[in-house]
Amino acid sequence: MKKHENYDIAEIMRSRPHLFILGAGATKATIPHGDKYSRQSPVMENFMQEIGIDGLLYGIKLKTKSKNIEAIYSELASKPEYADVVRKIEDGIVAHYRQMQIPDAPTLYDYLILSLRKKDCIATFNWDPLLIQAYNRVNKITKDLPQMLFLHSSVAVGICEDCRHYEPYRNRYCSICGKPLDSPKLLYPVKNKNYSQNIFIKDAWSTLQYYLETACIVTIWGYSAPRSDEEAKNMMLKAFSSDYRPLDQIEVIDIAVEDVLYKTWQPFAKNTNFHLNIHRSLMESLIGEFPRRSIEGYVKRYIEGWWNGSTLTLKECKTFEELTLLMKPLIENESQNNYNVI
Ligand SMILES: [Zn+2]
Repeated sequence: MKKHENYDIAEIMRSRPHLFILGAGATKATIPHGDKYSRQSPVMENFMQEIGIDGLLYGIKLKTKSKNIEAIYSELASKPEYADVVRKIEDGIVAHYRQMQIPDAPTLYDYLILSLRKKDCIATFNWDPLLIQAYNRVNKITKDLPQMLFLHSSVAVGICEDCRHYEPYRNRYCSICGKPLDSPKLLYPVKNKNYSQNIFIKDAWSTLQYYLETACIVTIWGYSAPRSDEEAKNMMLKAFSSDYRPLDQIEVIDIAVEDVLYKTWQPFAKNTNFHLNIHRSLMESLIGEFPRRSIEGYVKRYIEGWWNGSTLTLKECKTFEELTLLMKPLIENESQNNYNVI
């Protein structure tokens, strides 16, 4: 214990993780013109029409007048006579997302994953496979990449309940026992979700709790905390508020009206002594200025009072060769155990 007491605050802070929480807006910003084949990532409003399964509602009298998938799905799922329609909607959603392919050129998801390290974490509410697809190509640049959590599951994940093990669904068979992988059921938008529906989702939430408690910076990107996620938001707030953390930082990356964003995230900011910054794009956030060194950069500037700027900032790259070259000085330093801001 004595040894710990000798560490200065900055040293302890530098060892803490950076947590990113992603919502639908992050995928939208990552593929503004659609995926590799121009397939759009649907938004909750008008979701069924956008993915071409609104025909399933033909002849069904819904109480809700909303076109929002949350309202429609919740209502149908509460009525046993519609179990068949509900299953068809779920199949339609999975089929749509399974087809999605990340564009060939580097995307914001590639920049994001590559700008964090093993001690950091990306937790996503999105079902789409794009984040995993990005991970599978940036891991050719470095293996020191963040942990990923799929809070509502993902169509790109396969699980083996026997081995309590999960891996990419495209592997088809469990790499431990050889049995065919199951596709974990997605967590659909109903008010009372079952967060222990399967081991995959359960593990994701308990790991998220650890990162919420320990992260020095939490960045929330494109996640609007919709009504059907009220329980999720409360769970996150409880974990984040387990301590008063006046030196920590919350960043929100979103294009919504600022007042709305402040109102949504103010309860979280309270515990950081209102250290809440709002940015309009990923590139403006701390990883834009300090890729792979976000915590180090933050501590250097705000705790140690450094006035200069980083010389290696995130830039749009047209190819992966360009991106590899951009990150090279940082990754080379890391091989010498040097994590300084440059
Ligand atoms: Zn297995």
